[in-house]
Amino acid sequence: MLWLLSVALLACVGLGLGWRRCAGSRRAALALLRATEDRTTAHRAEVSRLNAGLAGASEGLIILDERLCIVATNPAARALIHLDDEDFLGLRFEEAVRWTRVHEALQQSRRDGSPRSFELALEEPGAPPRILMIQVRTLGAHGALVVLDDQSRIKQLESLRRDFVANVSHELKTPLTAIKGFVETIQDDPEMPTATLVHFLARIARQTERLATLVSDLLTLSRLDDAPGETSREAVDFVAVLRETLRDLLPIAEKRDLDLQSDLPAQSVWVLGDREALRQTAGNLIDNAVKYTPERGVVTVTLKLPKDDSLRLEVADTGIGLSPTDQERIFERFYRVDRARSRELGGTGLGLSIVKNTVKNLGGDIGVNSALGVGSMFWVTLPTETRADAANV
Ligand code: ADP
Repeated sequence: MLWLLSVALLACVGLGLGWRRCAGSRRAALALLRATEDRTTAHRAEVSRLNAGLAGASEGLIILDERLCIVATNPAARALIHLDDEDFLGLRFEEAVRWTRVHEALQQSRRDGSPRSFELALEEPGAPPRILMIQVRTLGAHGALVVLDDQSRIKQLESLRRDFVANVSHELKTPLTAIKGFVETIQDDPEMPTATLVHFLARIARQTERLATLVSDLLTLSRLDDAPGETSREAVDFVAVLRETLRDLLPIAEKRDLDLQSDLPAQSVWVLGDREALRQTAGNLIDNAVKYTPERGVVTVTLKLPKDDSLRLEVADTGIGLSPTDQERIFERFYRVDRARSRELGGTGLGLSIVKNTVKNLGGDIGVNSALGVGSMFWVTLPTETRADAANV
């Protein structure tokens, strides 16, 4: 903040420089002229440095004169207050920027000489809500300085983190509470019939399994977040991965009387990635299609090669489908359309966010087209390697 203050002071002093009238001999006048030229050159350099400093600052800076008229702003400030031409220079600050709280703070700071800082929440029509950290500082007879720092992204991340921690705690607490309840019931009844005991133990086992899946999904997410580019990469035949996944999920699909179809290329398609992560990606999308499609529906897995260097996987189902709002949110962590149903089916609500992270880390993309009651089609694109390139990895 100190450097901002000195930059602002320099600006005011620089801008306030003027010529002083002088009389005397011609030599004295020439000497004075030379000295003035030197000072002008020095001040020009000073002003250039100052402008460069202002332009380079990531915070928005607005410098006001003693009448609170705008004398200088930097690009960051102009972007934040949406002033894109120079017409506002010389305008009174309160005419150019209609933020009452800032004007009040300016007046207070001038009255008692102390700086003020506060958060300002902005809700402007047609723009996302923003939170600015504002600092207002009087520069005495030189005017005042307003510093604007856009905190919207940080606040948004903080709120996401808080939600994530709350979600994790809630998700862990539910199975733990159930396990605790079953264990206490068993402990309280030493005479419990074996059949009841076996039933309770099975439920404990199911909840323990849920906890294990949840922790494993959380660890996968944290690994993907921590080192996005550092997952191990090997040449993986994606067609083979899909065939294995389809083979593993076929019994579940048959049990639900679903028709699991596939249309895959005859040849190998190579992807540089982590084999396990790719298996999880395919597994998750096909497993979801099977889970969210009612009996006698159809799930179709298609692998296309639209370009030489990319593949497109499509997993289509004739299932329950997703509303437009849900389609926008299902890749968020813990987002589930029907929480109870997802839990009942053994879901954690983390599958699609893991898939999205994996695909993005590999330089691909993911999306969904869906209609409620008709079905969904999840698609993934991934860069591919030719066999020779893949063999050199
Ligand atoms: P979950 O473990 O709950 O399946 P996911 O992250 O894999 O978590 O999916 C998030 C949510 O997206 C699911 O709870 C479900 O509501 C919805 N969803 C995912 N796949 C499909 C699908 N094929 N059809 C309809 N809804 C789906």
